Amino acid sequence: MERIRQRTRHTEVYYNRSFVWRTDPSAGFAFPCDERGTIEPTGANLETLFQCIMGVYDVVDEGIQPYVNTWYEPAAVRCDCEREIELIDSLYNPCECGLAVNGSGQRLAPVSQWEPNDIYDVFGPR
Ligand SMILES: [Zn+2]
Repeated sequence: MERIRQRTRHTEVYYNRSFVWRTDPSAGFAFPCDERGTIEPTGANLETLFQCIMGVYDVVDEGIQPYVNTWYEPAAVRCDCEREIELIDSLYNPCECGLAVNGSGQRLAPVSQWEPNDIYDVFGPR
């Protein structure tokens, strides 16, 4: 199988201008912004933002808070049918065409040859 992608780590940083309630710091308001704190005002958040900044709400300004989001994009191989098979599972990754590969992208024998319920009588405990 042709490997068309290695497992790839992705990281994205995004920012919020955050305010927390003085009496309950576990809750408050967060406004998506860029790394300099620029907030894109919308009708929905503009009044709340104004009330946070002007002290109408009893909140503490925590400034610009970065949040890091990290995820892995699974490796992938090209199936005989030309579809992409993502190697999500370490043991079994099926393609729509019926072929399957393990987590290393190695072709597996047809399920009918190893499906536990089908071969239990042959290989199961006696
Ligand atoms: Zn296929």
